Amino acid sequence: MFEWLFGRRKRLLGKEVSSDELQRLDQALWQATHLTNEQRERLVRWSRVFVAEKTWEGCNGLAITDAMRTCVASTAGLMVLAYPDWYFDKTATILIHPSPYKVRVDPKILSSTFNAEIGGEFHRAGETIYRGPVVLNWQDIQFAKKDSNDGHHLVIHEFAHQLDMINGPNADGLPPLPGNVDEEGWRIAMREEYKMARDMVSQGFRVRIDDYGLTQESEFFAVASELYFQVPHELAEYHPNVYKLLKQFYVTDMRFD
Ligand SMILES: [Zn+2]
Repeated sequence: MFEWLFGRRKRLLGKEVSSDELQRLDQALWQATHLTNEQRERLVRWSRVFVAEKTWEGCNGLAITDAMRTCVASTAGLMVLAYPDWYFDKTATILIHPSPYKVRVDPKILSSTFNAEIGGEFHRAGETIYRGPVVLNWQDIQFAKKDSNDGHHLVIHEFAHQLDMINGPNADGLPPLPGNVDEEGWRIAMREEYKMARDMVSQGFRVRIDDYGLTQESEFFAVASELYFQVPHELAEYHPNVYKLLKQFYVTDMRFD
């Protein structure tokens, strides 16, 4: 099984990158046009493997197109550009809804977890399940273009949770860090940033990380990751330490100019 898998990976990685593939990458991912040619080619090759190895399912009648696959794959690949052997192996399936979808949640869970109104049904943009599927919706993914950018990116958010869960089923805002990073120090510094942002908001100040990112440490990591890739200059300006900490993990500096 593994031999077959790695044989296929090798074949997909070895094939020459065509100008069509590079063009499709640039259309799918605005950040790609800022990358070096070597990085773009690496991302194309990585995306081929990701597209081939995942099961893609459209929900509620959505027909999945190659452009959708390229968009999700290249965005996920951008996040692990520094880790060429990571293919989100725990994620076998990508589900894509046409737009935010309705879910039914036990009112008890809803009231305690979300602190929201008691009621069974609400809309969800996406979710990620440990060793389970990543669920997305195409409408929100399309909003994440640079020119309509508020710093959100559903794909980055959900795959940040997947990275967070590489070292255990509980998303805690602590992904596996490279060997040269002091893990304990990183964790303390990130937790400090999370607390500080919450304190500032409770004192009436505004912070760049939205309220959802302040609900728990795993969401802080996921929302900050969205900003890291979508509006890196803003994250670096408003939360310089968070940018620095995330750069120790993602390695690729997204501040292109
Ligand atoms: Zn989340």
